Amino acid sequence: DIKKANANYFGAYSSFGIHREMISDKVRMDAYSQAILKNPSLLTGAVVMDVGCGTGILSLFAAKTGASRVIAVEASEKMASVATQIAKENGLWRCTEGNNQYTGVMEVVQGMVEEIDKSIQIKPHSVDVLLSEWMGYCLLYETMLSSVLFARDKWLKPGGAILPDTASIYAAGFGRGGTSLPFWEEVYGFNMSCVGKELVRDAAKFPIVDVVDEKDLVTDAVLLQTFDLATMKPDEVDFTASIELEPKSTESTSKTTWCYGVVLWFDTGFTPRFCKETPSVLSTSPYTPKTHWSQTIFTFLEPIAMAPGKPNVDNSAAVGTDACPASRIHLRISIARAVEHHRSIDISIETSG
Ligand code: SAH
Repeated sequence: DIKKANANYFGAYSSFGIHREMISDKVRMDAYSQAILKNPSLLTGAVVMDVGCGTGILSLFAAKTGASRVIAVEASEKMASVATQIAKENGLWRCTEGNNQYTGVMEVVQGMVEEIDKSIQIKPHSVDVLLSEWMGYCLLYETMLSSVLFARDKWLKPGGAILPDTASIYAAGFGRGGTSLPFWEEVYGFNMSCVGKELVRDAAKFPIVDVVDEKDLVTDAVLLQTFDLATMKPDEVDFTASIELEPKSTESTSKTTWCYGVVLWFDTGFTPRFCKETPSVLSTSPYTPKTHWSQTIFTFLEPIAMAPGKPNVDNSAAVGTDACPASRIHLRISIARAVEHHRSIDISIETSG
């Protein structure tokens, strides 16, 4: 089953469309190119490993900045051969065998980073900089983070750099505007709200990957979880966290707002710990320009009424209803690698007013 899931997963990365989408994502590219190209003191002369190189773009950046050796690892056979060709055609291919016709710094190793021991001529713990773009929807979908941590523990020098070195997940509540309801309410003068209602009911069953507009958020953003990629343990990828969402601090005090669900997003940091000259952040938040990750939207079964200040203590009414709006929504969110479906994640969200 794992074999099949891997075949599907790496098969998906064999099509050029997905690589074009990633390379066209300006927010993503700006963050990585800044972190790699504008930190010459980190990259110059360094031995670099790129976990999941795809086209090899991050490795090419590293070579351009002056790395002495770049090991680009890619499981997809198709992309590994494409990356090889690209490195050669850009004069960056490194070949130490035969009549040494290539004098560049980059080599491509085809295989899963977990299994490349035999095809790589380098000692464990001798990589200076580990690069990877491993993030999936809601940060952890596809769970490639485990592969990066494996590579860290096996190949990175003690104290070596990992880029990015932090990753955080945030949450905020969204209002009616973040649902399908407004769109279907009035279509060329006709009421199609039954469609919107059905979509909202369906949305309560599965998360949706889509863009949420900042103006549709009804609570402030709250940090759910932060990972320190340099120090975290591999089993810390799975976590449970409790947070409280409160009405937006800019909201007028008396108004009741309805919270239809919660939206999650992430950012990754290239912090001054390793990127001393030019730190950078890749954010996929609703407050910043959109990325191909969009946000991940979880719709509640029933919307929750919120109003700032103390909740109305009225025994006859449940908190979070019109009669008794909640001053905050408690959420317990856990994200864990799925046991049965390799590469997917299980997310559970429990609410209480
Ligand atoms: N670094 C490229 C591609 C990122 S997409 C870029 O920034 O554009 C992630 C890539 O990692 C995919 O090409 C996928 O096939 C590869 N990959 C995922 N898990 C891997 C693993 N365990 N070992 C090797 N490659 C992996």
